[in-house]
Amino acid sequence: MRGKVGVVGAGFSGAVIARELADAGYKVIVFDSRSHVAGNCHSERDPETNIMLHVYGPHIFHTSNEKVWNYIRKFDEFMPFVNRVKALVGNKVYSLPINLMTINSFFGKALSPKEAAEFMGLIGDQSIVVPLTFEQQALRFVGRDLYEVFFKGYTQKQWGLHPSELPSSILKRLPVRFNYDDNYYASAYQGIPKHGYTFIVGKILDHPNIDIQLNTNFERGMAGDYDHLFYSGSIDSWFDFADGRLGYRTLDFEVERHRGDYQGNAVINYCDQHVPWTRISEHKHFAPWESHDSTIIYKEHSRQCGAADTPYYPIRLVNDKAQFARYVELARAEQKITFVGRLGTYRYLDMHVTIAEAFEVAERFLDMQKSGGAMPSFVVDPLA
Ligand SMILES: Cc1cc2nc3c(=O)[nH]c(=O)nc-3n(C[C@H](O)[C@H](O)[C@H](O)COP(=O)(O)OP(=O)(O)OC[C@H]3O[C@@H](n4cnc5c(N)ncnc54)[C@H](O)[C@@H]3O)c2cc1C
Repeated sequence: MRGKVGVVGAGFSGAVIARELADAGYKVIVFDSRSHVAGNCHSERDPETNIMLHVYGPHIFHTSNEKVWNYIRKFDEFMPFVNRVKALVGNKVYSLPINLMTINSFFGKALSPKEAAEFMGLIGDQSIVVPLTFEQQALRFVGRDLYEVFFKGYTQKQWGLHPSELPSSILKRLPVRFNYDDNYYASAYQGIPKHGYTFIVGKILDHPNIDIQLNTNFERGMAGDYDHLFYSGSIDSWFDFADGRLGYRTLDFEVERHRGDYQGNAVINYCDQHVPWTRISEHKHFAPWESHDSTIIYKEHSRQCGAADTPYYPIRLVNDKAQFARYVELARAEQKITFVGRLGTYRYLDMHVTIAEAFEVAERFLDMQKSGGAMPSFVVDPLA
């Protein structure tokens, strides 16, 4: 038996690191302040309808990383699912991401891919050479009409900021397609676990070398008991918010129950600014292989994260990044602790990226143990 390792957080980051080290012979104790494992990916069956609920918002697994895809499928069967998001604007429904169907139905045309590319080139604002803001990026690539309808109101609701105050990098994740491909993700593999994410994480953590302590908030004073600590909680909380709270958006879910089929799709975005929610998720449609007479929908509202709220999306504007850089400096001076995951590194991470980074962290730790080197506070550069 090797040394004793503490892991804070039983989401994908903590679970995968714990499992890799347990397999290598380490005794690992995993803490989570919540009453369940799987972090924000937690899913549970509604006791009344038996519908699988994505409790902290919809999660679709997608990746082009073979290693991650092969790994995750060892813990549950993945059922085919393709995320096809719709957008409601006024009383019209469009296809997202913006594709040939969106362009043709919005402008009442029947353009071919080549014609659409030419048309978009004409309506895009070519005077913007290097887009700096989200607004400039959108105006350049989709023009004012599509920007106003699909991006402006939605973005203001999602981020609480005008698109002219947001960096252009946010829009790079929403490409325009000149064909009818409406698959939201461009990944090689996509699916939903048959028994849910909490089942998977429970199985990852099911190992004789792993102890799990739920309902336990891990504090600095508890660190001394461990040869090394992996911390997937928020970095600012580790330092008792010495430099203030990092900016996050949080989400509120307005849950409704209905009979039958409410919206006919898993996710519909509401782009109009006067509609208070950003999107509606209808959870039974994430499991199209199941059949349910009733339905449960989540109307998703985004707002600034307060001290008592769950942090969801890191804001990472210029000021937030500078504040985060100061926390990184404090973290780099710490010994025997590595900050990991979405909260530990203050980044938005998809599940597959989280898992791939967790492999990297565990591998580095095992290498350092062999070579006698010191494990760094970060394995991935969090400021990159
Ligand atoms: C609304 C939303 C939708 C998303 N949809 C997708 C999607 O469709 N596909 C996709 O790939 N990814 C999606 N993601 C990203 C996904 O949620 C993350 O990749 C994943 O949660 C990261 O795992 P993690 O372990 O780093 O963090 P988390 O899941 O947040 O786990 C961290 C855990 O640490 C615990 N913790 C924190 N501090 C302490 C402490 N001091 N003591 C004890 N425990 C503590 C927390 O309770 C939490 O359980 C989505 C994210 C959001 C916000």
